[in-house]
Amino acid sequence: MKHPSGQKLIRLGAVIAAAAALLLFGKPAPGPSGPGLDLVPELRRGLDLAFYAPKTDGHTENGVLLSPLSASGSKSESLSLVEVWNGEEAVLMPLEDYIIGVTAGEVPASFELEALRAQAVAARTFTLKHMVGEARCKSGHTICTDPGCCQAFADEARMRELWGDSYDKYLARIREAVLSTAGEVLTSDGELVTALYHSCAGGRTEDCEAVFAVALPYLVSVESEGEEGVTYEKTYTAKEFTERINAAFPDALMTDPEKDVEVWQRTESGRISLIRLGGTVRTGQQLRTALKLKSTNVLFDITEDTVRLTCIGSGHGVGMSQLGANAMAARGADYEEILKHYYTGVELVSIDALIGS
Ligand SMILES: [Zn+2]
Repeated sequence: MKHPSGQKLIRLGAVIAAAAALLLFGKPAPGPSGPGLDLVPELRRGLDLAFYAPKTDGHTENGVLLSPLSASGSKSESLSLVEVWNGEEAVLMPLEDYIIGVTAGEVPASFELEALRAQAVAARTFTLKHMVGEARCKSGHTICTDPGCCQAFADEARMRELWGDSYDKYLARIREAVLSTAGEVLTSDGELVTALYHSCAGGRTEDCEAVFAVALPYLVSVESEGEEGVTYEKTYTAKEFTERINAAFPDALMTDPEKDVEVWQRTESGRISLIRLGGTVRTGQQLRTALKLKSTNVLFDITEDTVRLTCIGSGHGVGMSQLGANAMAARGADYEEILKHYYTGVELVSIDALIGS
């Protein structure tokens, strides 16, 4: 996962050159006049119209607090714009505005402020990893708004839908969380981390290696207190379950779930790593995908007629648990403590310090 610093400089150079080209040839749109999210509707337009020039004022403009990143005048200025693929178009957005949309899309705005701050830093770190070319989005663009690939993203319309009459109040909370941590990212041994996160660990997070087959020292299983009781149930008739398994895994040839479902191995955190389904042995992740389950920590209750699955937690379980982060914040932890709990041995640094500007 490590990259020689020379390569990193070349990659950063490419990013800077791309941003400079857009500065020269792009068509700057008017600056924000509202709550700083005017750019969001631009997602539906083309790249030219959506381009926003970096701000020159690092404090306020029309009453809007702007990202200090956008005004640093340093090498990191080129990293203040991120190319976001929305499923139809690629749009250049100020990094901190994108992080506001991600934070709003990923967690309830009613979360504790310190949990929102932790989410913002994790999302920013995840994003920067893509921006410097150390992580890839399936779309071929820098990053996308599909939570199944990169990160969720709420545009202004989605925020209004989510928050209704509380729109102003919740937007202010999200903005405070993002802008008070602007430019902060996580590193391990001086390298940006892959800041994976998920909805709910159900009491214990998972080793990265158990899910993604890559061992990372900062993505190891840790306790995640305050979310132990979160479960999701799914019940099938025995016939329905048999058909679904056989459709997903033709070599299963399942006939009787009572005899044909056998958990062979669980990880230390309790998630299924291997399961026999009739004549085939699959990973917990394959089972989760096939049945669209909330997690791989599944308990079975099988009778002659029904198959009841109870999923503990939600998501892949690696890195920060959003619900666990909120529980930590409610117990009095600040965002740095939350991040250092879920990402073992990491440092909180500024993007400026990281790229040595
Ligand atoms: Zn993506």
